[in-house]
Amino acid sequence: MKSVSKSPWLLHYDGSSCNGCDIEVLACLTPVYDAERFGIINTGNPKHADMFIITGGINDQNAAVVQQIYSQMPDPKVVVAVGICACTGGIFKDCYNIKGGVDTVIPVDVFVPGCAARPQAIIDGIVKGLAALEKKRAEKKK
Ligand code: SF4
Repeated sequence: MKSVSKSPWLLHYDGSSCNGCDIEVLACLTPVYDAERFGIINTGNPKHADMFIITGGINDQNAAVVQQIYSQMPDPKVVVAVGICACTGGIFKDCYNIKGGVDTVIPVDVFVPGCAARPQAIIDGIVKGLAALEKKRAEKKK
């Protein structure tokens, strides 16, 4: 009998984005691009989330918040960094108040470049994140 897997739940957090990438993430979650057709559900509770979508770079203000959200998510989980700021710090990389991309504080599974990241690229990143999640679930069962 084929196993039935759980629908992935997604938590979206704006680290320090200019809102450009955030608007595109919201466009993905609303009917125009409709990421829910992949069975994804947006949640505000990290304890229910399988996938952590982050926009913006890491700074002193949000580093602990990002780590706390990540630590509250149950295993297995995946992180998708959306936009070049979340990937590397982007145009703010060398600013005194930016530590760098999301991977400076937590492991990142999928990087979605772009400024702003396009909705198609974000959905592609989410689908890649789903594949990484399935792989982690399979490894955990072993
Ligand atoms: S990548 Fe560009 S659009 Fe996205 S948060 Fe950074 S500056 Fe804004």
